[in-house]
Amino acid sequence: MKPVRTRFAPSPTGFLHIGGARTALFSWAYARRHGGTFVLRIEDTDVARSTPEAVQAIIDGMNWLELTHDEGPFYQMQRMERYKEVVQQMLAAGTAYYCYTTREELDALRAEQEAKKEKPRYDGRWRPEAGKTLPTPPAGVPPVIRFKNPKDGVVAWDDQVKGRIEFANTELDDLIIARADGTPTYNFCVCVDDWDMDITHVIRGDDHVNNTPRQINILKALGAEVPTYAHLSMILGDDGAKLSKRHGAVSVMQYDDEGFLPEAVINYLARLGWSHGDDEVFSRQQFVEWFDLDHITASAAQFNTEKLLWLNQHYMKALPPADLAAKVQARLAARGVDTAAGPNLEKAVVLYVDRCNTLNVLADAVEIFYAHVTPNPELLAQHLSDEARPALAEFAAGIASVAWEAPAIGALIKETVTKHGLKMPKLAMPLRVILTGQAQTPAVDAVIALIGRDKVATALAPYL
Ligand code: GLU
Repeated sequence: MKPVRTRFAPSPTGFLHIGGARTALFSWAYARRHGGTFVLRIEDTDVARSTPEAVQAIIDGMNWLELTHDEGPFYQMQRMERYKEVVQQMLAAGTAYYCYTTREELDALRAEQEAKKEKPRYDGRWRPEAGKTLPTPPAGVPPVIRFKNPKDGVVAWDDQVKGRIEFANTELDDLIIARADGTPTYNFCVCVDDWDMDITHVIRGDDHVNNTPRQINILKALGAEVPTYAHLSMILGDDGAKLSKRHGAVSVMQYDDEGFLPEAVINYLARLGWSHGDDEVFSRQQFVEWFDLDHITASAAQFNTEKLLWLNQHYMKALPPADLAAKVQARLAARGVDTAAGPNLEKAVVLYVDRCNTLNVLADAVEIFYAHVTPNPELLAQHLSDEARPALAEFAAGIASVAWEAPAIGALIKETVTKHGLKMPKLAMPLRVILTGQAQTPAVDAVIALIGRDKVATALAPYL
């Protein structure tokens, strides 16, 4: 068995999106699972659309997800000489040939074929064959170079996701591998790279299924070993339509911005089209141990934002409180909120994490403890009734001497409402609104304990 070598080969024309990240994850995991090598290759030959910023965005996304490559990044634009060298080898071997057909001739050919209701394809007029006399090359026409695709038979592979796929060679015309200006074309570069980089397993999106028979034929012509292919089905959005910008956060880094943990995104992506029984929650390490190509589903995977949020909350809760607090603190600091000026952030995040599913939502929730709270007058009017005021005053007096911990504070609230013949919310709700500005909070005694005796006393004073 050859050592496993996989690659992720993005075209740097935008950020690392969810589909690309999943392809990268599966390629990475397969290499890790088999103690192999994961190669990063940047397919930047579309110079009009490729940008250095996009390369950086892809690398940033991979770093955030900790999908570390072992080799590369290799840039196709830096490999031009190599591609040209291989083109020359193919010309010499007779597996490629010059074609002088002009644009006008190709247009005429196409029109003719369309009129006859035939599939438009190159007719092989410059293709050398035994016993065939080729036309004389016209002066002043720079030739393209075409691959001499086999004429008969089928090209087939056992796709690890989709099963056996076959194409008749008659369906494939002689692909241009180098343009008239000498630049090599996309499918050809991929072949040379997969060959030179000794790639054993090509795991990529199924938008490349139609390229695969051409690539296999070229690889065979080169005498290269054909890798194993696994074509991943597309990802649909929550609404069942193809995942696109319309669905919001499609860039991986946007998930970081929105307060998702990379562990959650990894776990989520792992389940997008792959399964291990009914397991939904597993670590990166566990995923690597389990990952195989046999359990990738051939049908499209559907994105489920609710599930991602659920996983994210799971991973937030699983973090040691100090780590969770540090992450929230960084987000608050970015908003200019100084957490030194308020209660212990670690306690605050622990108190709120059950009701927050992203770091941002958690930061939003605890921010009130470090800012001046001005309760909304309407909310206050709604919750602070006249009958509650004496109870509020008595509670405020009581806090001076109560033991400062949630159970004792809770007992004080209870005593006070009982004494005033009120139901619990009559006091708890105005306390919430005055102290946090919000009507919904975790247990009010815990919130009060967190805020601190002096601050609570100061905040209640204007309402007594
Ligand atoms: N560069 C291609 C893309 O971004 C991937 C090619 C491949 O994996 O073979 O879709």
